[in-house]
Amino acid sequence: MTMESPLSTALSQLRGTVDLLKLSENDWHTLSTPRRILQVAVPLRRDNGDVEMYDGYRVQYSTTRGPSKGGVRYHQDIDLDETIALAMLMTWKCALANLPYGGAKGGIAVDPSKLSARENERLTRRYTSEILPIIGPERDIPAPDVGTDENNMAWMMDTYSVNAGFSVPGVVTGKPIVLGGSLGRTSATGDGVAIATREALRVKGIDINGATVAIQGFGKVGYWAAIALENMGMKVVAVSDVNGGVAGFPSVAKLWDHFLANKNLDMPGTEKLTNEELLHLDVDVLIPAALADAITEKTANGVKAKIVVEGANGPTTPNGDAILHDKGVLVVPDILANSGGVIVSYFEWVQDKQNYFWSADEVKNNLSEIMMRALKGVEETAASRKVTWRQSALMLGVGRVAEAHRLRGLYP
Ligand code: NAD
Repeated sequence: MTMESPLSTALSQLRGTVDLLKLSENDWHTLSTPRRILQVAVPLRRDNGDVEMYDGYRVQYSTTRGPSKGGVRYHQDIDLDETIALAMLMTWKCALANLPYGGAKGGIAVDPSKLSARENERLTRRYTSEILPIIGPERDIPAPDVGTDENNMAWMMDTYSVNAGFSVPGVVTGKPIVLGGSLGRTSATGDGVAIATREALRVKGIDINGATVAIQGFGKVGYWAAIALENMGMKVVAVSDVNGGVAGFPSVAKLWDHFLANKNLDMPGTEKLTNEELLHLDVDVLIPAALADAITEKTANGVKAKIVVEGANGPTTPNGDAILHDKGVLVVPDILANSGGVIVSYFEWVQDKQNYFWSADEVKNNLSEIMMRALKGVEETAASRKVTWRQSALMLGVGRVAEAHRLRGLYP
């Protein structure tokens, strides 16, 4: 583990929270230990007949408050430590939103852009078979994350169902609507990021109309956040993806049309930016919505935004966080800011269990209600305990898991 890895960040945040809550060393041991780790080899037959092996993971960090829940990431750099860190964050996130879940994460160390659609399907089905004994609607419910989407969820649901002998839609969330997906799931994380941004602007006394925003990452979270922010009256001035950033586009919708047609952000008439330039733009709000460790001790000093809303998981290292704090930046932490995704995943699971599906308005209203309750709780605890929003969110999430441990007791 290096000094600032996603796991060291997550553990140092947990340590600080255990101390703030004055929990015991016994609590620290139970809270800092993932409960079940499965590492699998995933063989893939390429379209040309070659066979390759990939490392796959599923980490069930906690099942204390319910089945574990968390995304599946396809990225060449994913390893066991990062999967543990992300599963830990899911645990506090679900508890903060008061969802009846523990936390999990999974993934395959593969670059999905190098796979054909058929290869991606074979890899997904084999990974699902390998982790099959430990997933299920009552055990652990995967969802999309970086590098996966509703197609992967459809293949996972089908592989699980074929093995069960009947359709089991509730085994994954983020599915296509016709397979038991929920209206509003695709945009849910971005919609939640926008709600969190609106509330942070209110707290900082900045007018939402015309407030300027820069977004790192133009994927499932970044794109939908950009759309929702524009709809609320904010001005998205720059976005970026893995190849760099762009400013000066007429609207997010027009940039997206260009992106879909050309697979790049080089829209004629726009201005190019590096990812670092994007982080340092003079805007009201900066939204890191790509990968971990974007705001570090190297990049935090140059941040000019008054608010950072963490669309991504773990985008700010502890050193980066300390610098932002000293600069007076309000940081809306990942476990709060991006919880819209797991909240609507929870709605999808509930709908699958009941075989009764909600309207788009019902989903939107219920998402807003849960997000606002969590935001209010975090704002109030931050004020009463004189802590940052991150510490406050972690205190609420970790505190609930610690209480559940205490009430359930230790078996035997
Ligand atoms: P995605 O794969 O759809 O998009 C990722 C985006 O980040 C792409 O635009 C990619 O080009 C860009 N990117 C990758 N590396 C980059 C770099 N070095 N610099 C700038 N941009 C880079 O993934 P996603 O689902 O949007 O997830 C993004 C983040 O949000 C992750 O941290 C994920 O864990 C978190 N998250 C996702 C969800 C969800 O529902 N999808 C929910 C909660 C949190």
